[in-house]
Amino acid sequence: MTILDVKDLSAEYQTSKGRVHALQDVTFSLDDGESLGIAGESACGKSTLGLSVIRMLQGGKITSGSVSLDGESILDLDEKTFDKKFRWKKISMIFQGAMSSLDPVFTIKDQFYEVLKQHNFQGDFKKCISESISSVGLDENVLDKFPHELSGGMKQRAIISMALLLKPSFVIADEPTTALDVLIQAQIINLLKKLKKEGMSFMLITHDLAILSEISDKIGIMYSGQMVEFGSSFDIYKNPKHPYTQALLESIPTLHGTKPKYIKGTPPSLISPGEQCRFLDRCPHAMDKCKKDPPNFKTDSGYVKCWLYDEK
Ligand code: SF4
Repeated sequence: MTILDVKDLSAEYQTSKGRVHALQDVTFSLDDGESLGIAGESACGKSTLGLSVIRMLQGGKITSGSVSLDGESILDLDEKTFDKKFRWKKISMIFQGAMSSLDPVFTIKDQFYEVLKQHNFQGDFKKCISESISSVGLDENVLDKFPHELSGGMKQRAIISMALLLKPSFVIADEPTTALDVLIQAQIINLLKKLKKEGMSFMLITHDLAILSEISDKIGIMYSGQMVEFGSSFDIYKNPKHPYTQALLESIPTLHGTKPKYIKGTPPSLISPGEQCRFLDRCPHAMDKCKKDPPNFKTDSGYVKCWLYDEK
């Protein structure tokens, strides 16, 4: 059964220089229990996508498209209904940067209580918090501590535990391993794997393709606000189709392999990106028809947005 269905989702930010088209016509779907990895370089729209799906886009607005969660269209709901029925109960978010996501002047317990109160939780607060904190492998004594008394990995686990408090069926994890050392990264990845085994669906946003290969069933590659390739994790790694996906995979350093390649140039401005394929200026396969933005062409497990795959 489909848990998340996103169709033609677009969002923008108004800035002093003009409207930034941060997300354009993003489409994908995810089945119950599946994990989706979203990858791409900085400012490609990964976090904007996550925040749009959970309706928490600050300073920006969704301009078109639809998001269905568990078969219900959630963008048309008023804020109160969405809050009562969906936010934290069916969909929640692990925010980027555990250091800045926790309030330094309150204990972890106070911050957990705040979430439960905010979402009108009617059950046993103590039991709910205790179950959630032990599900991420933390000892209950962390509840009485302030964020600065915890290590980076403990803080990140506390943030994950907070996102899981009301047992949502879908969680968005925005760069949950950034700024953590490799050992802590491994702990967090193992924790996400465990939660996946227990049936949780999630969207993992990261620029680290190695991490995505560990836990994603499906992968979406973002470039300049567009999802340029979407498909099964296997297909994206074994047979990447979009020139940007290929370049991204070739840029991963290997211990004994060839020198990693880099992608020359920079992405276009998203204030007026123009009609052409957004990768045009950096693409080694650019052709005349690339001056028109390509549609999504079907692949074995998803789609690719590139004129190289136009059968006609
Ligand atoms: Fe390159 Fe053209 Fe494909 Fe864009 S549409 S990625 S420019 S080949």
